[in-house]
Order: sequence, then C-alpha cells, then structure tokens
Amino acid sequence: MMGDLCCEMCGKPGVQVAGDAILCTGCSEVWAVYHCDRCGIRMMSRSSERPAGGPDGLCCFCRMRARLEEVPEADRERILATALERGRVSGIREARQVLGWPLREAVLAVELLYPSGEGHP
Ligand SMILES: [Zn+2]
Ligand SMILES: [Zn+2]
Repeated sequence: MMGDLCCEMCGKPGVQVAGDAILCTGCSEVWAVYHCDRCGIRMMSRSSERPAGGPDGLCCFCRMRARLEEVPEADRERILATALERGRVSGIREARQVLGWPLREAVLAVELLYPSGEGHP
C-alpha cells in the first residue's frame, strides 16, 4: 500500500475524487475536477467559477489546436519556418502579426506548431 492519500491542494488527508485527483473534503468543495473532452487532460477550477476549459469542455491546448486548424496551412508553415529558422521569439512575433492574436495565444500557438517530440530552446 502507498500511505495515506494527501490532498493535492493543501496536503491534508484526502480521498480520491473524479478518477485520479486527491482532494480533502474542504478542497473538493472549492475545486471542481474535470477532464478535457479531446485529450483527457485533467483540469481543476474553482467550482464557484466557470470551468477554465470553457463551455466546450476542452483544455486550453485543445482549444488552441482547434483554432490553429482554422488557420490557413500556408500561414502556419510560415510561422513555424520563422520559429525554426530564427528562434521561438521570432516565431511568436510572426504569429502575432499573421494571426493578429494576443501574445499569450501566439506563444501557445507557436508551442503547438512545433513538430511533436522535437526539442527546442
Ligand atoms: Zn485540501
Ligand atoms: Zn485537451
């Protein structure tokens, strides 16, 4: 046996909730645990607030992937090429210019455009 289960949020003794999260009674009242519809990643949000994953039940990565699928392939290739040639920051700048997205979204977009498994600085 593993020892007693500890709450992920505060470290008090807790129980397993929603499949794979450990929360104590107090925290499970505050935090809602749910999973992304597409990739199954676990997300937590304060149950008093709207789920962080949005009404579509997707995590921020899947939502960004869905958005990127709407972007013309030529634009995506241009952003990726810039990122690979001149570095991540240039790629992000290119993404902001081409897509007109805010910085935070451009950063995520460039992250996701890199071929999976490829290391980058
Ligand atoms: Zn707790
Ligand atoms: Zn997801």
